[in-house]
Amino acid sequence: MIRNMSHNSFALLQARGYKLTEPRRRVIEQLHDRRRALTALELHQLLASEGISLASIYRTLELLVELGLAEAATRSGDEQRYIACSPGQHHHHIVCSRCGRVADITECLLEPFEDVVRERTGFTIESHTLEFHGYCSACRQ
Ligand SMILES: [Zn+2]
Ligand SMILES: [Zn+2]
Ligand SMILES: [Zn+2]
Repeated sequence: MIRNMSHNSFALLQARGYKLTEPRRRVIEQLHDRRRALTALELHQLLASEGISLASIYRTLELLVELGLAEAATRSGDEQRYIACSPGQHHHHIVCSRCGRVADITECLLEPFEDVVRERTGFTIESHTLEFHGYCSACRQ
């Protein structure tokens, strides 16, 4: 399952004309397999023994965000953290404030709220973002 999600990202990257380089492959795998929001520095520490530079991790993250394969989590004052994501199916994330664990929330209950926003503002709505923060079951103990 997790493996498949990495593979979907690999396929999408290549479909968009990007080579699956070692840094790209490893950053995608780390973000998917750990199911945690990670900073570029944390990724660098995890991948340092593989000779992947911090600069190439930054470049890779930028590309993944651009392609919708990663998302920059809302900053909580410190370093920017990144979440593995898959474009397509609309969903939201919940992120543990302590360990960075991420879960996807695949149901979106905001459509009625969008109607209210549309009515009140006269805007058309193209998209919305919503991120939940809290403590995972392991961190709550
Ligand atoms: Zn996602
Ligand atoms: Zn946690
Ligand atoms: Zn939504």
